[in-house]
Amino acid sequence: EAFKKAKDKALAYKLVMSEQLNQHIRYTKEIKQALINNDFELHYQPQFDHLYNMIGAEALLRWNHPTRGYESPAVYIPIAEESDLIIEIGNYVLEQACRDIKRLRQTELPTSFQQVSINISAKQLVKRDFVTNVISTVSKYQIPPSSLKIEITESIMIGNLEQSITGLNTLLKFGVACAIDDFGTGYSSLAYLKRLPANLLKIDRSFVTDIHLDQSNKAIISMIIQLAKSLSMEVIAEGVETEKEVNCLIELGCYKFQGYYFSRPITFDKLLEYKH
Ligand code: C2E
Ligand code: MG
Ligand code: MG
Ligand code: MG
Repeated sequence: EAFKKAKDKALAYKLVMSEQLNQHIRYTKEIKQALINNDFELHYQPQFDHLYNMIGAEALLRWNHPTRGYESPAVYIPIAEESDLIIEIGNYVLEQACRDIKRLRQTELPTSFQQVSINISAKQLVKRDFVTNVISTVSKYQIPPSSLKIEITESIMIGNLEQSITGLNTLLKFGVACAIDDFGTGYSSLAYLKRLPANLLKIDRSFVTDIHLDQSNKAIISMIIQLAKSLSMEVIAEGVETEKEVNCLIELGCYKFQGYYFSRPITFDKLLEYKH
């Protein structure tokens, strides 16, 4: 009896595994097709300062799937990262963002608007032609390098630290800005952080949520702000959803925000219309 149970369990497990594998293969095929069909889009989440000036926007990938509709990148980015598909997606994002920046600059944006940021995955960053690719795309669209910012996570560089630092330094010298995304959730040491060529720390949403009710999150955010200050970096809080959180963040010394309280990610056309 016990044996039969164990056998059933193993069988069920095997079924789940092969189901996952199938889904994986299906997804990979679909992503390839989506790239061909032009089903990916960039949406933009505006960022604000404490006076509610729009200071920039983060480009977020959206897959306009013919039957499933919009799906979160949190689902398919990790799958794309397992193959070179993430490189193709990354190239699309870079190209489209630069194209959009060019169009944005031809319209009347608030003078406070500085940058569009794009997310870069680990695999992209360590590609040998990453840096030249960014530089040549920015040049191709004739936009100022300072109108583009790249977002990387702390853990992104651990595999290839020296090469990544050299690449980021080249980009910084060229004028492209760099942000550390989801800051506080990785395992980086302070010595490591000191070496990261970045201008901005993005405080992860997990610390921001209900910050006014959580003393330890308050302490962590306060520490991140001090840290950024002493490393001459700026800070922005992500995932800000309530006015209470905004007020608390201001009290702690953070004056830049991104989150549903201010705006959800919107289409590029909506961003063009956006006047505050
Ligand atoms: P991220 O870079 O940390 O982006 C922020 C995510 O938080 C976005 O989810 C955004 O929609 C969501 N968000 C913003 N404000 C709020 C809020 O107030 N409350 C809540 N609950 N969520 C908020 P999204 O668009 O689903 O993206 C998830 C992740 O997927 C991103 O996290 C990023 O790591 C990755 N990703 C998105 N676009 C790209 C891309 O073009 N390339 C790469 N490599 N990764 C991307
Ligand atoms: Mg990001
Ligand atoms: Mg983030
Ligand atoms: Mg995140």
